[in-house]
Amino acid sequence: MGQSAELTTLLDRAADGGRISAEEALELYRSAPLHALGRAADTIRRRRYAGTEHIATYIIERNINYTNACVTACKFCAFYAAPKSDKVWTRDLDDILRRCAETVELGGTQIMFQGGHHPDYGVEYYERHFSAIKEAFPQLVIHSLGASEVEHMARISGVSAEEAIARIHAAGLDSFAGAGAELLPARPRKAIAPLKESGERWLEIMETAHRLGVESTTTMLMGTGETNAERIEHLRMIRDVQDRTGGFRAFIPYTYQPENNHLRGQTQATLFEYLRLIAIARIFLDNVAHIQGSWLTTGKEVGQLSLHYGADDLGSVMLEENVVSSAGARHRSNRLELLHLIRAADRVPAQRATTYEHLVVHDDPAQDPVDDRVVSHLSSTAIDGGSAHPQLTLLT
Ligand code: SF4
Repeated sequence: MGQSAELTTLLDRAADGGRISAEEALELYRSAPLHALGRAADTIRRRRYAGTEHIATYIIERNINYTNACVTACKFCAFYAAPKSDKVWTRDLDDILRRCAETVELGGTQIMFQGGHHPDYGVEYYERHFSAIKEAFPQLVIHSLGASEVEHMARISGVSAEEAIARIHAAGLDSFAGAGAELLPARPRKAIAPLKESGERWLEIMETAHRLGVESTTTMLMGTGETNAERIEHLRMIRDVQDRTGGFRAFIPYTYQPENNHLRGQTQATLFEYLRLIAIARIFLDNVAHIQGSWLTTGKEVGQLSLHYGADDLGSVMLEENVVSSAGARHRSNRLELLHLIRAADRVPAQRATTYEHLVVHDDPAQDPVDDRVVSHLSSTAIDGGSAHPQLTLLT
């Protein structure tokens, strides 16, 4: 099918920097040829990063999972255990601090503290842990949690979400990772996460955080049976808040993984749908600076391709990951491979900070870091033995 004159006009307008409506985004997402969509998105990316458009970024971080106990029982989740289940585990503070020490040793700059909605963990739990981490490792950025955890901890402690945010920020939380966004529109959200707060409430809490000076990234879970219109509605809800706050640093879509969860993989997003979403996000979210391609859930090749469809960031060398790997994500990488992937996509790799400043621009391959311990580990509780690098047995 050829590209209609109407779609061409619309794509040209978007590529020239014009804002498009949600209806227009849906039309492009459904009908524009894949490569035309990618070309428009890439044009927008190049213009936004004029001068550094040849660069694609990555970060070195570690997910630290503090418990799998969760009262929220999302249907797509393979990580949680019901609080009274014999599968529940928790990590003590010493264990968490050892994981932080390994992260620092390997050159990681960020941790993502991630876990279930434990029935006893209120604001005090996070205050205690964040302040202990900051005291021991002031150089580590705590980029963690999201509105769902805030809603839960505030309820446990009997305080407002605003107070919960202010207190964990004061204790050491630097920014929110935007966990729990899943799908924000009501129908698909109720279908996959019926016990989570509404999408409107999720956004309201993130807006409060932004107002309090705590910026965030934001996410989207694709492939659990949502419609194209619901995907675009998710983007519209984010863009509307961003118009008011400017607090979302990045948008990070990732795909549902089909193993070990209640949805049983009955629906999944195709890789082309993922690339189309990356492109339409770059086009539609004209007020969000960074778009991240998720090689962890879609594979390295698709992550690499996403750099030609509007993404400017390839996420992280994730030194430890237990959540999506529990649901079937098996993709692993390491720093040298990410550098190669980025160069093969005709970009210069740069290690970035949480706030996206370039820490190291790898413009000379001869100077590439040689520490081959900087490897992503799937130490998943669902994968026997995980997959730790032989030369560095991370805590599992
Ligand atoms: S996604 Fe998070 S809130 Fe939902 S069941 Fe899993 S751990 Fe709990």
